[in-house]
Amino acid sequence: MTIVRVALNVPIDSLFDYRLPDASPQDIGRLVRVPFGKRRMVGVIVEKVQDTQVKPEQLKAVDEVLRSIPPLPALLLKLFIFCNHYYHYPIGMIVMGCLPAKLAGVKSISKINTEQAFFMLTEAGRLVSINTLPVRDKAQRSLLTQLQTVGTLTSKQAKAISRRAPQLIALFLTRAWIEERHSVTPSIQPKRVSMPTLNAEQADAVKSIVAALHQFKTWLLHGITGSGKTEVYLQVIAAVLQQDRQVLILVPEINLTPQLEKGFRDRFPALSVICLHSKLNTTERTQNWLLAQAGTANIVLGTRLSIFTPLPKLGLIIVDEEHDPSYKQQDGFRYSARDVAIFRAKQTGVPIVLGSATPSLESYHNALTERYALLSLRTRAIKNAALPVIQLIDTRNKLLQEGLSEPLLNALEQNLVQNKQSMVFINRRGYAPILLCKSCAWMATCSRCSSRLVFHLQKQLLCCHYCGHQQPSPRACPHCGDPDLLPFGHGTQRIEAALTKYFSTARVVRVDRDNVQRKDAWAHIRQAIHEKQVDILIGTQLLAKGHDFPELSLVCILNTDASLYSTDFRAEERLFSQLMQVAGRAGRANTAGAVLIQTDLPDHPIYSALIKQDYDRYAKNLLKERQTIDFPPYAYQALLNTEAPKLDSALNFLKNALTIAPLAQSMQIYDPVPAQMPRLKGYERAHVLIQSHSRKKLQNFLANWYTELSKIKKTRVRWTIDVDPLEF
Ligand code: ADP
Ligand code: ZN
Ligand code: ZN
Repeated sequence: MTIVRVALNVPIDSLFDYRLPDASPQDIGRLVRVPFGKRRMVGVIVEKVQDTQVKPEQLKAVDEVLRSIPPLPALLLKLFIFCNHYYHYPIGMIVMGCLPAKLAGVKSISKINTEQAFFMLTEAGRLVSINTLPVRDKAQRSLLTQLQTVGTLTSKQAKAISRRAPQLIALFLTRAWIEERHSVTPSIQPKRVSMPTLNAEQADAVKSIVAALHQFKTWLLHGITGSGKTEVYLQVIAAVLQQDRQVLILVPEINLTPQLEKGFRDRFPALSVICLHSKLNTTERTQNWLLAQAGTANIVLGTRLSIFTPLPKLGLIIVDEEHDPSYKQQDGFRYSARDVAIFRAKQTGVPIVLGSATPSLESYHNALTERYALLSLRTRAIKNAALPVIQLIDTRNKLLQEGLSEPLLNALEQNLVQNKQSMVFINRRGYAPILLCKSCAWMATCSRCSSRLVFHLQKQLLCCHYCGHQQPSPRACPHCGDPDLLPFGHGTQRIEAALTKYFSTARVVRVDRDNVQRKDAWAHIRQAIHEKQVDILIGTQLLAKGHDFPELSLVCILNTDASLYSTDFRAEERLFSQLMQVAGRAGRANTAGAVLIQTDLPDHPIYSALIKQDYDRYAKNLLKERQTIDFPPYAYQALLNTEAPKLDSALNFLKNALTIAPLAQSMQIYDPVPAQMPRLKGYERAHVLIQSHSRKKLQNFLANWYTELSKIKKTRVRWTIDVDPLEF
């Protein structure tokens, strides 16, 4: 009898056995439809076995094997199993959660077109100007536009654009604007694309990586902002593509950095570059995923989740901005895409490049101890672009106008007079972080979270930035009735209002989540910046991430001291990298740059390190501190997190959980405590921290504990294990 073991999207950590008499080894990794309780579910065959513990009368049969969809590769299944063991999260939820929604759903799955043929833009097609096409023929115009931006289209994608797609495709084929392809043959034409000549450090980095393309190796590419890391990626990628292999590039956020995507398309116009991120609709995402799985997509550019894309010809993984905390998923399956990427590279036997101007201390430590190979780019790539000069403005005894000091306003003014672009960085959106009653000191707080509500002026709303709760701002203090409510502190909107008033002729633009939510909003703003239609940009960390604004010459940084009082042991590391990133936006091209930082703590070592822009020294000091207090990267950590309506139940659950914990040798187990954010979205949260110097021992401990915890039935307390936690 043949039994298949199937991963299903249910919160039980096991595979489920089904009969499948005619199962072949090729069925492993295939999607199946199976009965589960009273439901029908889609799952994935992970194993084929001869025997089962399930009683014969309870053993059900697979309804249908979805053979039209190619199976998940064996290595990917192994990656899921690794994650299951490492992160202690139910296997079925990992597998099904990593598939595009269309594949994982019972209803949608039959509608998927798995036809592999697709059409690829030719050089001739690329040169056609859209304006030469008939104005009235919208379908023809949009089809070619799509091809010119994406490079390839499947017939299904074409049909989604127009019902006339089949005729138009035929027309384009006869005009030789496109070619029909079934699988991509490498055809890289470096001659046509202009490539900058690498400087010595870049050349050295490329040479080193390319010399070891056929083996697993972790490279840490530490390059200061503007040092041309992207160019290094591009040239290494070219070498991998020459061998007809696929490249996976992880980025923290795609929709904010479309120039990166464009950079890849421009460099490899004949190849298929696809994106995978959450802003795509489910059809696009599924199609792109299938192109990757078929080996047709040459370059996959994606966010966190795309680390689980099947790539049969994977030859290289790049993790850009590897220090970015968004690589770690913060709920449910709490994986770190960077760490999974390293495992995947190892498993596949290919190199992985971690790039950053401010590597995480974990990665830097690994480089110092030679577990990773370090490559450094210490100068800016563009000839005349020097690193900006960073200065502090001591605000301790200065009078501020709306949070802005006189030297800062003067600098902005000078820049305006000289017709240069400036940026003001303040990492808090909204108008004011606190709405305060002057009479009784009442403050607006969120009823569902332990947070204050942020005052948004235009909409007259109080908003919780943690749970999304919004309420109209009160006309008077709900506590004492005093109508004089004071917005306290500064957010982007308030700085925007102040600067607009102060510099009445300046073109001031704000960039934060509230402002770039609409689909093309950011693209428009970016274009305006590049066309020099913006004088002063105000924004949150959205502005810090990898943008290249050649005209920007002054960066002003406000309100960063708060992080230095944080109890999070990584707060300082994060602030440093954020400030380096923000400062790095200045003076990237031929405009010399200056950075001004307002602070009440001018003597803090973080600022002197920043002024010297000396990552290495500073990182080494932070590492020393970590070693002294015995924290990561010198120890490995995990949390058992709980959430319950009452804090007591959350803490009690943890106390009980500790009584069933396995015997712990060389393991540090802390007492149950409320989380740093004790209340979130209506739940009270608590955790236990477990720490060890041995990753292996920690893993064994967690595995045993997880088994015991999984046996607890009927609890209203939700619990999860968070391995290598970033949030406490
Ligand atoms: P990073 O990602 O390291 O911050 P980028 O890759 O964005 O830096 O490069 C910064 C700028 O330098 C870009 O405009 C890029 O085109 C340019 N650049 C990169 N390498 C070279 C080079 N070898 N010669 C000239 N310009 C270069
Ligand atoms: Zn009051
Ligand atoms: Zn809230």
